[in-house]
Amino acid sequence: MTVVVPLRVERLYRFYRAGDEETLALRGVTFQVDAGEFLAVSGPSGSGKSTLLGCVAGTDEPSGGTVWIAGHRMSHQPAAARARLRGDHLGMLAQERNLFDHLTVAQNLRLAQHLARQNSVDARRLLDELGLAARADSFPSQLSSGETARAGLAVALANDPAILVADEPTGELDEATEEQVLALLGSRAEQGTAVLVSSHSAMVRRAADRVLQLEDGIVQP
Ligand code: ADP
Ligand code: MG
Repeated sequence: MTVVVPLRVERLYRFYRAGDEETLALRGVTFQVDAGEFLAVSGPSGSGKSTLLGCVAGTDEPSGGTVWIAGHRMSHQPAAARARLRGDHLGMLAQERNLFDHLTVAQNLRLAQHLARQNSVDARRLLDELGLAARADSFPSQLSSGETARAGLAVALANDPAILVADEPTGELDEATEEQVLALLGSRAEQGTAVLVSSHSAMVRRAADRVLQLEDGIVQP
């Protein structure tokens, strides 16, 4: 039996050009994340973390190199194909919140499932797992910061993704909430999800199985 690696990134390059200015945001980044592995991408501001995660999620297109998602090529595909791959295999926890303010927690989750065309997840069970069962009918404005973070995670997990990608998910959180979110990410990895989190938080680096250190778009040895 061949094992499909959830995420493989090969010699990834991303250049930005504005007039005579050229920024080399990623310069030959290679790594993979196995099923059940929690990988943290660390590095100073401007080192390329968000660019890398955007290329992985297919919201951005690399200048060179390849991203493989569950054995499918994500990079150098039309936007519609990337969106389909994302819906089928990937969950995203955005830096901003993942929730629509005018929808309840349960409605936000249902919308995410609808958009992903993937209804295999029992929404009630997922909310239960994240400690949100009693908050299903609450609106985002009625949630504590910890509940908001967990509700955002519920939306990211709505399609039971093979890969969970989060760009600085704990950047705005207090320590107790950060700890809660990291525990949930860790338990998700233990259940077999490949977890990729960018952060410059020491707590995230400690929670991860492995740390990829980025400097100026290059993985440090
Ligand atoms: P990080 O997330 O680690 O802070 P980024 O991936 O956001 O780093 O940025 C990496 C580099 O690419 C930075 O020098 C940044 O200024 C540049 N960059 C990011 N996005 C763009 C863009 N859309 N246009 C031009 N330069 C960009
Ligand atoms: Mg960033």
